[in-house]
Amino acid sequence: QAKTAGRDTLQFYSPNMHTAMQERVQLEAQMRTSLEQGHFELFYQPQVHARKVIGCEALLRWRHPERGLVSPALFIPLAEDSGQILALGNWVLHTACAQLAAWSKVPLLAGLSIAINVSPRQFHQPDFVQRVLGAVAQTGADPRYLELELTESLLLQDVEDTIDKMLQLKRHGIAFSLDDFGTGYSSLAYLKRLPLDQLKIDQGFVRDVLTDANDAAIARTVVALGTSLGLSVIAEGVETAAQRDFLQGYGCNTWQGYFFSRPLPAAELADWVVQFNAAA
Ligand code: C2E
Ligand code: MG
Ligand code: MG
Ligand code: MG
Repeated sequence: QAKTAGRDTLQFYSPNMHTAMQERVQLEAQMRTSLEQGHFELFYQPQVHARKVIGCEALLRWRHPERGLVSPALFIPLAEDSGQILALGNWVLHTACAQLAAWSKVPLLAGLSIAINVSPRQFHQPDFVQRVLGAVAQTGADPRYLELELTESLLLQDVEDTIDKMLQLKRHGIAFSLDDFGTGYSSLAYLKRLPLDQLKIDQGFVRDVLTDANDAAIARTVVALGTSLGLSVIAEGVETAAQRDFLQGYGCNTWQGYFFSRPLPAAELADWVVQFNAAA
């Protein structure tokens, strides 16, 4: 939570608290209208394993009529607070599943997975499982290529219910990834209980992995931990070949980051994948 409520959010706080409040209220109202008017979009960032694209992460974008492209780091916390995240999260789910179904019909794109970020409030809805399965059924997406990214704080709330929901979805082939791993408070014993498939090394550790011995030690520990628990490990925020190679030296062979590509609109992502795989 500290991360999402961090630096970026401050842009919305003017010295005048009253103005800041008004701005929040205004943005919340605009979010609602924007959802109705189709001003939200999903971008997709490739995930690469060894020399192949294996899938992508769906990242939400808000094309604000006046502000331009607004970062999810700014509006997701607001949406969480106001409850709008439920409508927004549902839209993301349906849009990503529809994309998955569309790509499955294109030979060069079939088999790509899509990972969706799920926020705590969305996941803890009583009918979350039905919503996900409903989106899959309505769009014709193959659930075996759908991944859900959860955060440690989400997993720590109501563990029994969380595990139950995960197991129900896993029965349909849906995979689970633990996002921003290393920034939260999961204990090892606890991690072992969760039916996860993947750990994502937080980009905060990847950034200075070459120069900061502590970050390097954490990255190496996450890889060792994931491997010993039988999970795959992906590093996010990989910006240079040197970072990729360094992580590879630790046994991490799956990466995501600007070094490969920034998040792209769906059509551009499709072109990028075809080119990348052709070059490999
Ligand atoms: P996240 O899930 O950890 O996503 C990774 C973030 O890192 C994305 O920021 C991505 O654009 C950025 N990133 C990727 N590669 C690099 C890199 O090489 N360097 C740097 N500096 N950054 C990189 P983005 O798209 O702004 O999203 C921020 C956060 O907003 C996400 O963090 C996620 O927590 C949340 N978010 C995004 N889309 C959704 C959504 O559909 N639903 C929910 N609930 N949350 C979302
Ligand atoms: Mg994520
Ligand atoms: Mg992350
Ligand atoms: Mg995150």
